[in-house]
Amino acid sequence: MDQDAADRATAPSPDDAEWSDERLRNAVATADLPALLAALAQILDDDAFIDPALRPDSVIPPAGALYQGGLDEERQRRARGLCLDGLRRLRDSGVAAAPEPTPARLSRLLDFIAHGADESYLPLLAHELDLPRDGAAPAWKLKDLDPERDFRVAVIGAGLSGLVAAHRLKQAGVDVVVFDKNPDVGGTWYENTYPGCRLDTHNYAYSYSFAQKPDWPCYFSSRESIQDYFVKFAEDAGLAPHLRLSTHIVALDFQEPAANWNVRHRAADGTETTEVFDAVVSAVGQLNQPLVPEFPGRERFQGETWHTARWRHDVDLTGLRVGVVGTGASGFQVVPAIAEQVEHLTVFQRNPPWTLPTPRYMDEIEEELLWLFRNVPYYARWYRFLQFWTSVEGRRRFVEVDPDWTKEGSVSEANEVLRVALTDHLTAQFADRPDLLPHVVPAYPPGAKRLLRDNGSWARTLKRDDVALVTDRISEFTEDGIRTADGALHELDAVIYSTGFTASEFLSTMRVTGTGKRDLHEFWDGDARAYLGITVPHFPNLFCVYGPNTNLVVNGSTVLFTELAVEYIVKAVESLVRDGDAALDCREDAYLGYNDAVDAENKRMAWGAAEVSSWYKNSKGRVSQCWPFPLLDYWTSTRTLTPEAYRRIPRT
Ligand code: NAP
Repeated sequence: MDQDAADRATAPSPDDAEWSDERLRNAVATADLPALLAALAQILDDDAFIDPALRPDSVIPPAGALYQGGLDEERQRRARGLCLDGLRRLRDSGVAAAPEPTPARLSRLLDFIAHGADESYLPLLAHELDLPRDGAAPAWKLKDLDPERDFRVAVIGAGLSGLVAAHRLKQAGVDVVVFDKNPDVGGTWYENTYPGCRLDTHNYAYSYSFAQKPDWPCYFSSRESIQDYFVKFAEDAGLAPHLRLSTHIVALDFQEPAANWNVRHRAADGTETTEVFDAVVSAVGQLNQPLVPEFPGRERFQGETWHTARWRHDVDLTGLRVGVVGTGASGFQVVPAIAEQVEHLTVFQRNPPWTLPTPRYMDEIEEELLWLFRNVPYYARWYRFLQFWTSVEGRRRFVEVDPDWTKEGSVSEANEVLRVALTDHLTAQFADRPDLLPHVVPAYPPGAKRLLRDNGSWARTLKRDDVALVTDRISEFTEDGIRTADGALHELDAVIYSTGFTASEFLSTMRVTGTGKRDLHEFWDGDARAYLGITVPHFPNLFCVYGPNTNLVVNGSTVLFTELAVEYIVKAVESLVRDGDAALDCREDAYLGYNDAVDAENKRMAWGAAEVSSWYKNSKGRVSQCWPFPLLDYWTSTRTLTPEAYRRIPRT
C-alpha cells in the first residue's frame, strides 16, 4: 500500500463490519494517540482533537521509547475517548479522504504535535510530512530551461541516497545513469544479509518523506522488508532504464577545458568503458567497505572466516564453535540470531555498547494498528512524523559537552542522567549474573558511540551456558582459534568479523582526479571533508550524498539528510542550466571555514570529546563522519546555493 492510497482510504459506512464499534475500540487501544488525534483533527476539521492539554512531549525520555507522547493515564483516557468518538464520526459520515490541511490548519496541527518548534522549523516539518504532496519535486524541467542543452549525470550507488538522487534528477528531465557494483538496488540493505539484520531506527521515519509506506510489518523491520521497499521504490519511480547494475566505477577524471567528467567503469565481464557526464553524484554510502583488523596470524586459522556484510550462506553454523569479533550494531544483531543454532558461541568484545531499552524492537505491528494505518487517512503520516520529531532536536542536549563537567563517564549533567538510566537498565538485566555486569556497562559516555536498540535479547544471549563473553584483547589467531592476552586459546570452527567498515575512507575504491589533475585522495590526505558534506574544491560538479560529516548520531534522520542533500544538488544543476554555465567549483575558503565550524562543534559533542574508538573518527582522530549541529541548520544551509561558496566555470 502506498501513501496516496492511505490518504484516500476506503469510504466507511455505518454498517461496515470493518468499522464495528469493537474494531474501533481495539484500534484506539493500540493507537499512537497523538498521531490519531492529529489525523482526526485534520479529517474532521475539528480542533477539539488537538486540545493543548493533550499535547505530546517532544523530548524523548533519557532511556526509552516515547510512548503516547508522555501523556499520563488520565490524559490518555481522555484522548482515547476523543479518538473513539472521532472514529465513529468518521464512520457515520462516510469520510474517505482527508483534504491537505490549509497552511493555517497545518500550523495549528504542528503546534499541537511539535510544540516547542519555533516558526523557523515549520517548513522543515511540512517537508517531513510531505505537505504539500511531493512539494520538494523540482519545479523546473531541463527542456523548459534550455531545450538545446543535454545534461548527463552519473550517480554512483543505487542505495537509499542514489535512488533518491536519480528520482529527483529524472523528475527534472535530466539524463541520469545510476551505477552500482551490486546486481540489485538497495545498497547496504542488499549487502547485509546476516541473520538478525534489521532496522535499528524507527521504521516509519526510515522511508522517504515523499514515498511513505503506511503498512510496515514491524516497528523495526527486517532487512528484507527494507530491501523490498527500495526495490519497489525504484520500480514505481521508473528507474529501471537508468540502472547500470553489476558495474564498478574505476575512475573519475575531470576534463578541462570541457568541464565535464570522464567516468570509467567496469562491467561484470571485465570490460572497461569510459563515458562522459556533466556531473557526478557520489552516493556510495559510508558503511560498505568491510574492515577486518590485521590480527597477527589471521591467515593461519584453519576454519572459515567472513565479515557480517559478506555473509556466507553456504556455511551451515549448526554444530560449529563460532567466534564473533566485535559488538557494534552488526555484532549486536547477529549474536542473538545465531546463538541457538551454533554449538558454542564466543563473543570477543573490546568496548561494550550502550543500549536503549526498546521493548517492541523485534515485534510485529499489531493487526489493530495496521487497520488504522490502512483505514484512517493521514494517520500513518502523523505517526511517521512523530517518530521523526521525537528523535531529533530533543535528544541533542543529552550528548552536548558541558566544559565544566568533570565526572568520568559522562559529558554533562543531562548525559549523566542518561548514563545512570542506561546503567540501571543493564544492571537490571544482569542482576542474576554479577560476573558479567562489569563487562557490559560501558566506561565511555552515552552518545560517544552509536546507541543500540535492545529488547533484552542481548542479555538473554550472553547469559546462555553455551555463550562466552571474552573481554581480553585478541593477541593472535592460531590454526585452531583465537588466543587472547590472558593466554587462553579459544578453539573455534568459524570466525565472524562484525568489526565494522572503513567508513572514513570516502570513495576509496576509485581514482578521482579534478582540476589540474589533482588527485582527490592526495588532496584529502586521509581526512575527507566536503562543504555541506556535498562539494569539494577542485572537483567541480562532483556532488556527494551522505558525504563527510553528514552521519547523524542521536538527533535526526539520515533519510531526511539524504533528501536535503539531493535537493541541493538538483538546485545546483538547475542553476548551471539556467545560467548556461558548465560547472560549479567549491571555493576553498568556504570549504575550510565550514569545516572549521564543524570541527569546533563536533568537539562539543560526546562523540567528539570522548577518547573511545569509533567509526565516527578517521585515522587522524578527527570526527569526519558526524554532523554536530541541529537538524534545522542542515535544512537552512541546503535551501539555497550560496553564490560566494562557488566559482562558476563557463561553458566552452
Ligand atoms: P562498528 O559499530 O564499527 O563496530 C565494530 C565492532 O568491532 C566494535 O565493537 C569494535 O570495538 C570492534 N572492533 C573493531 N576493530 C577491532 C579490533 N581490532 N579488535 C577488537 N574489536 C574490534 O561496526 P558495525 O557494527 O558494523 O556498525 C557500523 C554502523 O553501521 C553502525 O554504527 C550503524 O550506523 C550501521 N549499522 C546499522 C544497522 C541497523 O540499522 N540495523 C545494523 C548494523 C550496522 P570497539 O567498540 O572497541 O571499537
